[in-house]
Amino acid sequence: MPVRPHVVIVGSGFGGLNAALRLASAPVDITVVDRDNYHGFWPLLYQVATAGLGSDDIARPIRAVYAGHANISARLGTVTSVDLDRRTIELDQEATLPYDFLILAAGSSTTDFGIPGVTEHAFPLKTLPDAVRLRNHVLSTFERADAGDLPDGSRGDLTIVLVGGGPTGVEMAGALSELIGHNLAGDFHHLDLTKARVLLVEMTDHLLPGFASKSQEWALTNLESKGVEVRLNTKLEKVTDEGVSFEDGTSVLSRTVVWTAGVRASPLADVVPGPKGRAGTLRVGPDLALPDHPEVFVIGDLAAMAGRHGDQLPQLAQVAIQGGRRAAANIKRILEGKRTKEFRYHNHGIMATIGRRSAVAELPGGIAFQGTLGWMAWLAVHLVFLIGFRNRAVVLVNWAWNYVTWDRATRVILDDGSTTPTGQPRS
Ligand SMILES: Cc1cc2nc3c(=O)[nH]c(=O)nc-3n(C[C@H](O)[C@H](O)[C@H](O)COP(=O)(O)OP(=O)(O)OC[C@H]3O[C@@H](n4cnc5c(N)ncnc54)[C@H](O)[C@@H]3O)c2cc1C
Repeated sequence: MPVRPHVVIVGSGFGGLNAALRLASAPVDITVVDRDNYHGFWPLLYQVATAGLGSDDIARPIRAVYAGHANISARLGTVTSVDLDRRTIELDQEATLPYDFLILAAGSSTTDFGIPGVTEHAFPLKTLPDAVRLRNHVLSTFERADAGDLPDGSRGDLTIVLVGGGPTGVEMAGALSELIGHNLAGDFHHLDLTKARVLLVEMTDHLLPGFASKSQEWALTNLESKGVEVRLNTKLEKVTDEGVSFEDGTSVLSRTVVWTAGVRASPLADVVPGPKGRAGTLRVGPDLALPDHPEVFVIGDLAAMAGRHGDQLPQLAQVAIQGGRRAAANIKRILEGKRTKEFRYHNHGIMATIGRRSAVAELPGGIAFQGTLGWMAWLAVHLVFLIGFRNRAVVLVNWAWNYVTWDRATRVILDDGSTTPTGQPRS
């Protein structure tokens, strides 16, 4: 039997997973390597952090996703280097995998922009362990306050500071205000929750960059109506174990600082030679292949892909999904002896939810919804794109339950509650 080309895909997130599924019908053998054994649905990560969903509701085992495809193998491991000349990748288990075609889809990671104290004292929200650690911390802090362990509320014990007014910061702020106002207020009825604050800090003069100004203003007004304090034009100077200081000379005491502001390409980009784009991304040609390496494609958050007007496309799920499909289609075309095609991104819209019956949704053609209509569009889109029937069913039931009862059901602390942002025990 002739040897079939071996396609290695690094990362089984939005981009990698869609590339693998598109290639499943091609005469190739595919190995998907991921450092985790699950595919994560990151747009709902904030709901895990705010006790709305469990971690396995938004994750699906990678082996289950590919179970019906005999030519796809999954491999658990972290890719540490890529040898473009020898056409091999190295895994952390000191294993080497050869490839004929390579798709790099390792996504992005958090960056602190060099701001002192962010890495040590602020909670990131990029992975499932991040979300569970943050939920543990918030719930444990309320438990400690209730037990009289944190007697002086004026020290910011119950103040949560969210840094970054993008979709994740806005969604976290709305969900936290509902968690505190509707669940923790009942759970901790002896605590004076007038001392609980949710503060959202943004360095520019608007929330939700990339959205129309009407949506930005609507989000601001809506968050404030939920009791969230929003500070615009406020640049973070440093984070300590006591709270945050800003460049305007003010500071806020807080035990819980959440960093949603900085994203850069996965560190894997640093070990791949070639020109770089914004935030350490790898620059690719119009067909998503690396310059001088037509057998290597880079997609999703890892890639600097040019949009219609030459500007770098944003790090969004749809960009990764469509990029994955284009890379797969181009590999098929090469195998058929055809020229590769240019990647054209189709904007299906952007959305962000602020809480129950309040979201902003902007669709192509200038159609925009705010409030209940926006929220229903948000719910529908997230259910459709969530991977796996079981996850969709569980999330739907959870949301329906929450809508009827206000109950955010996963208010569980999964460790001793003494974790820090870096996962080290708190002294
Ligand atoms: C909290 C949060 C909320 C978001 N909300 C939205 C939203 O509402 N709408 C939207 O469009 N986008 C949203 N995004 C962005 C969106 O999730 C990303 O743009 C998208 O996931 C990019 O897809 P990707 O395939 O490039 O990377 P990912 O989906 O992140 O997948 C990367 C995969 O690579 C694996 N990996 C990484 N490094 C290695 C390595 N060295 N070796 C092996 N495997 C590796 C990872 O485990 C992961 O499975 C959000 C992101 C976050 C973090």
